[in-house]
Amino acid sequence: MPKPVVAIVGRPNVGKSTLFNRLVGNRVAIVEDEPGITRDRLYRDAEWAGRVFTLVDTGGLDFAESGDIPRQVRRQVELAIEEADVILFLVDARAGLTSTDEDTAALLRRTRKPVLLVANKVEDFQRPGQLAEFYRLGLGEPIPVSAAQGMNTGDLLDRLVSVLPPETGEEEEADTIRIAVIGRPNVGKSSLVNAILGEERVIVSEIPGTTRDAIDTWFEREGQRYILVDTAGIRRKSRIEEAVEKYSVIRSFKAVDRCEVALVVLDALEGVTDQDKRIAGYAHEQGKASVLVVNKWDLVDKDSHTHQRFTELIRRELAFMTYAPVVFVSALTRKRISRLLEMVNLVAQQQCLRISTSDLNRLIRDAVLRNPPPAAKNKRLKIFYATQGGVKPPTFILFVNDPELMHFSYLRYLENQLRAAFGFEGTPIRFILRQRD
Ligand code: GDP
Ligand code: GDP
Repeated sequence: MPKPVVAIVGRPNVGKSTLFNRLVGNRVAIVEDEPGITRDRLYRDAEWAGRVFTLVDTGGLDFAESGDIPRQVRRQVELAIEEADVILFLVDARAGLTSTDEDTAALLRRTRKPVLLVANKVEDFQRPGQLAEFYRLGLGEPIPVSAAQGMNTGDLLDRLVSVLPPETGEEEEADTIRIAVIGRPNVGKSSLVNAILGEERVIVSEIPGTTRDAIDTWFEREGQRYILVDTAGIRRKSRIEEAVEKYSVIRSFKAVDRCEVALVVLDALEGVTDQDKRIAGYAHEQGKASVLVVNKWDLVDKDSHTHQRFTELIRRELAFMTYAPVVFVSALTRKRISRLLEMVNLVAQQQCLRISTSDLNRLIRDAVLRNPPPAAKNKRLKIFYATQGGVKPPTFILFVNDPELMHFSYLRYLENQLRAAFGFEGTPIRFILRQRD
């Protein structure tokens, strides 16, 4: 469940940064001499009444080059409408209603997202300034606060939490890892499934899958629940199933669609074939976490370099998924089958990793400083800021001056930096580029 994003918008000087700091609290220790620190202050996680959300001060975003103030405010609002779940529209009760406020309100009235109208700088609730005229904005009753004094901000947070999107009841599903065992015929999928399920301390039951002919197998081991997706053709293999499988990898593909972790099974004696590449490539493209399982390892004549040589072969042939861990197993002798489940646990956890917006932006900034993006068409790519849009797979949204200037190899560089810093083992990473000028 992604954290909801709450954006503060409003024209300059209404008190956005003051409110931001007030709402996130002053507990955050900030090393003042670190360059670029003001950018880091722009997004912080806050918590109120048990709900955690990310607060964004859009006013501090790098839109300074956008020209005049109405245009800058317009950009903030567009960003907020696109990215935020709730928008706090801040106005200045001392200054009263301005035409920029009216333009902003016109934009905000068009979004379906909840907008809270907040009138700042009300220190004297007996004489709340120009509060009444803000009703004209058509965004409901203004909530008076004093960001500087912290007055009424608790009420504001109560209102805010009440309009956050509901937490989904995914918890039950969330602690169950859905696994698809995929691979060519005869690599040992059935044997592997039976080896996993035949382990000691494994509790097994069959459940109907979501498609008519699918059967999923549920099992639990050491407190962790798993579902093996579409094991119909795998566990009780009939001749027909076998014949069908020979000509089709579609069954594998369907299983991938419904899984979180794909066990891509390879045959140690046969190396990596084109069909293996196609099957693994599908899991990659679908954004699934993968573990590469080299089966029938018992049949391989081994010396001290065999592991390494085979790993190198896999890295070369499946170069698009070097993030996937490789496990050498034998379904026959059950060697390292429990290690396999440890890897499943690891990659399932890694595909749900969330990087805080401040850590993410610090990493991107450092990466850009160390190795600036190449220029093209006499223009240089600028990354204004980044935010993690989701998990499974981890997806990062980069706000840039011109997406056309982004080169594949530079994204690869950023991806490597992310992996070096945070791991993301076994999971693909996605980037979405958004234009901001
Ligand atoms: P921003 O440009 O919207 O981020 O506004 P700032 O947070 O930088 O605040 C602009 C000015 O308004 C600063 O001088 C603040 O001290 C002042 N200010 C902010 N909140 C309040 C408030 O609640 N009451 C009063 N009187 N002044 C405030
Ligand atoms: P599937 O078509 O991918 O489900 O493959 P199967 O599980 O039916 O296995 C195909 C053949 O490989 C069978 O004859 C298995 O006994 C054999 N096999 C599977 N795993 C292993 C293993 O780890 N070692 C050895 N030596 N043979 C295996």
